[in-house]
Amino acid sequence: MQEKVYVVGAGIIGVCCALALQRDGRQVVLLDKTGPGAGASFGNAGAVVNGSCVPTATPGIAFSALKMLLNGPLSIAPKHLLSTLPWLIRFLNQSREHHYSHNAKHLVALTEHATDSWRKLLDNTDCAEMFKAVGWLRLFESTASFNGNASAREMMTRCGTDFEILDAQQVQELEPQLAPIFKHGCLQKDCHFISNPERMLAGLVEHFLQNGGELKIADVQDIRIADQKISIRTTTETLTPAKLVLTAGAWSTRLSKGVNYSAPLIAERGYHMMLPATSAISRPIVNADQGFVISPMETGLRLTSQVELTDVDAAPNYAKIRSLLPLVERMLPGQQLSEQSVWVGARPSLPDSLPIISRHTHPDLLFAFGHQHLGMTLGPITGELIADLVAQRTTKIDLHAYRASRF
Ligand SMILES: Cc1cc2nc3c(=O)[nH]c(=O)nc-3n(C[C@H](O)[C@H](O)[C@H](O)COP(=O)(O)OP(=O)(O)OC[C@H]3O[C@@H](n4cnc5c(N)ncnc54)[C@H](O)[C@@H]3O)c2cc1C
Repeated sequence: MQEKVYVVGAGIIGVCCALALQRDGRQVVLLDKTGPGAGASFGNAGAVVNGSCVPTATPGIAFSALKMLLNGPLSIAPKHLLSTLPWLIRFLNQSREHHYSHNAKHLVALTEHATDSWRKLLDNTDCAEMFKAVGWLRLFESTASFNGNASAREMMTRCGTDFEILDAQQVQELEPQLAPIFKHGCLQKDCHFISNPERMLAGLVEHFLQNGGELKIADVQDIRIADQKISIRTTTETLTPAKLVLTAGAWSTRLSKGVNYSAPLIAERGYHMMLPATSAISRPIVNADQGFVISPMETGLRLTSQVELTDVDAAPNYAKIRSLLPLVERMLPGQQLSEQSVWVGARPSLPDSLPIISRHTHPDLLFAFGHQHLGMTLGPITGELIADLVAQRTTKIDLHAYRASRF
């Protein structure tokens, strides 16, 4: 009988790893405490940002973060300030020019494969109609905010990321229902949009199950290695996988403690609010001045925003996302915009904005987590790389920059 590979965590990263391993002919068990798409992969903005290269820690971030803390999308829970401080210090260190350039180079080395990897993943599934070639549009109300974004565009040029600058009239032609308040736009034409992340995950898991994969609902308490054997202790049993891939998003380092691994992983929590469905916009749009995104999901217009640094399981506070509604109304006048539901999710983030895609010192234990703001973008390429590592094939990208031992 073939040895089973266990994948712990059924968010986009775990599901993509499970599918890539299955396509290699492996018996795969996907394990989640709640079910597929229970974490950040459920409620994101759905953008697949091909060629995304700007890390979160940019030169000058300390000043912008202060501004964002005062009246913008950033908040740090006072109760967690002390525990967040070491992460913040490492994060600020990563904003130094040479770290910034290094991180951008290795981010784009992954994201430049986003579209192709998604296409490959969706091949022979019923999910391809949710993957839409509509681009990614960033809009600026003021010339000051457009100029403030110049260094990011410089980095995009350095990294070979395709984009087009639009003036007010071109923005209006592209998205005619928007109020004429935007002076500048930046369009990344080769980006895609997943019009229902929840249904996408469910569809991919269905495909995995139809092809002989197993899904197990189990709350993992602990992962251990004893006498070179890996074990997973859940609330009800102990499992002994031949190989294990840990893909538990922002919860991953809780589970890696038992195998003596720690990394500065933080829960960068974000919120969404669902509004009634509208055909008013055709693609996800970033309002750069206000720090939010609106996405035309098939289930309604989705408003996403915020970076809340706190415990991954802290109680949500929906006040800030609710306070953004008048700004969306100003952007889309005449639309029916009433709250349908709200949600919180945790982006799994490391200070250098690069994920961990790596073997543990034990050769049969692998890690794939820390995809920060880009997990939907990077799921399929991460799955391909993990399958290569498991098969001991040469990976198409040098994985040194994503190694677990960098922390
Ligand atoms: C508001 C917001 C907007 C975003 N927009 C975008 C976007 O437009 N484009 C983009 O590319 N990315 C976006 N992201 C980021 C993206 O959603 C994440 O990077 C991605 O979903 C992370 O996927 P994951 O599989 O690593 O983690 P998750 O989706 O969080 O999945 C982790 C899974 O592990 C399971 N788990 C945890 N602990 C255990 C345990 N003990 N036992 C068993 N299972 C466990 C959880 O139940 C969960 O299902 C956004 C994120 C947010 C919050």
